[in-house]
This record gives sequence, C-alpha cells and structure tokens, in this order.
Amino acid sequence: MRVSVLASGSKGNAIFVEMDGARVLIDAGVGVRRVGRALSSLSASLDSLDAIFITHEHSDHVAGLRTLLRHTDAPVYSRPGTLRAMAESGGDLPAERLFAIHDAVEVGPLRVSSFDIPHDAADPVGYEITGSCKCTVATDLGFVTDEVRTAMEGADVLVFEANHDLAMLRKGPYPWPLKQRILGNRGHLANDEAGRAIARLRKRPQKIVLAHLSETNNRPAIAEETVSQVLAESGVPALSLAVALQDEMVTA
Ligand SMILES: [Zn+2]
Ligand SMILES: [Zn+2]
Repeated sequence: MRVSVLASGSKGNAIFVEMDGARVLIDAGVGVRRVGRALSSLSASLDSLDAIFITHEHSDHVAGLRTLLRHTDAPVYSRPGTLRAMAESGGDLPAERLFAIHDAVEVGPLRVSSFDIPHDAADPVGYEITGSCKCTVATDLGFVTDEVRTAMEGADVLVFEANHDLAMLRKGPYPWPLKQRILGNRGHLANDEAGRAIARLRKRPQKIVLAHLSETNNRPAIAEETVSQVLAESGVPALSLAVALQDEMVTA
C-alpha cells in the first residue's frame, strides 16, 4: 500500500491511495495539473484512477473536481447529502458520474467504507480503505466520536487531522466567531486532541500522517511535537509520524 497526501490544509486537499493494484483519490480540492503532476511522479496517471471519494462539499475538498472529471472516467462517490450540496452550490458536475455511498463500495479488490464525522457540512465522512492493508482518512472533525475511533482502529496508515495548536488559535488573528467555529463540535481537531485519540488506540498504526494543518494557527513542528508529547505522556512508544503539507506531497 502507498498513501500519498498530495495536498492538505484549508487551501486544498487530495489524498492518493494505491493498494492491491487499485487507485483511489480522496477529495479533489486542488487543481488538476497539480494532481496530474503528483500522480505521474508516482508512476500513476489521472486516467488510471479507479474511483474518487469526496469527504464533504467544502471548497478545499472539491474545488478541482469538475476539471478533474474531464481527465478521468473514474466514478465519484460521496454521501447523498454531499452530492446534493455540491449540486446546489453550482458545482456544475455531470450527474451521471456521481454515485451515492451509504455504507461501503467495492473498488476492484478494495472495500471503501464511509463513516460519519462531526463537521459543519451537509453529510461529512471519513473513509476506511481496506484490502491487504488498511488506510483510514479522518480530517475536518470537531471531535473524535466512537464511530471515528472504530474506523481508526486497526489502520496500518492513518491520515488524521491535527488542525491547530490551541494557544495559537486562541491568541491568533482570527475573529472570535471563526475561532468558535473551529473550536466547536463541528469544527476542527486540535493537535493535543489528535494525540489523545491516537494514544487511546488499541492497535497502533505503522504510519501516521498528521493532516489539514492550519497555516495560521499551527506549524508542522508544533503539531508533531504536541502529538509526540501526548503519546509519550500516555506511555505510548514512539510512532512513525509525518506531517502533510499544503504545497508539497508527503508519502507514507
Ligand atoms: Zn477542509
Ligand atoms: Zn471542511
């Protein structure tokens, strides 16, 4: 299995997962050229994608989708509420390419399951991709529910949100209503919350990629240090941690 976070953060998200010969893209929030370049550096291509999964309709997850669909025949899956929200926001997407996922779908030898995440979107989800290995993607979540915890359990690679450092967000330049939105139950996960959720896992992932970092209220070194510190305080042996970036691909 190879998991490459092509871009991660409030300016655009896309994650490429290749497992057992199948190729899946999670979210299409960056331009098609960027995705194409990243895939060719991984010896893949846009027209070799088997399926595209969308977590939710926020523009940092779907802004590149319409153009992407001109370069691939891959079907697009998301929850019905997300598909509706994308249509209502004038995304101008070809309806025949969009498919509702309720629980799980098969993509070749892989099973891709959606699970609910608490976030201020129509019907937001994370995904579990299971074949010979398991990858779980959970970003854009206000807090870690039991359902999220179950989906994280047993992942070999976990792409998990570490959005902000609490002190940086509190002291930072954002207006109070935006701070409240991020801190709320349907907002984004703080570094220390991410660390605590990882520390509680019964089976530790081989690799963790911290993702969707705020460029204003976080820094890669701070996210990594905070999560490592929470893990150490919880008596968890050091884990392989990487940090996904907005403008550079990170492969787990
Ligand atoms: Zn987002
Ligand atoms: Zn979002």
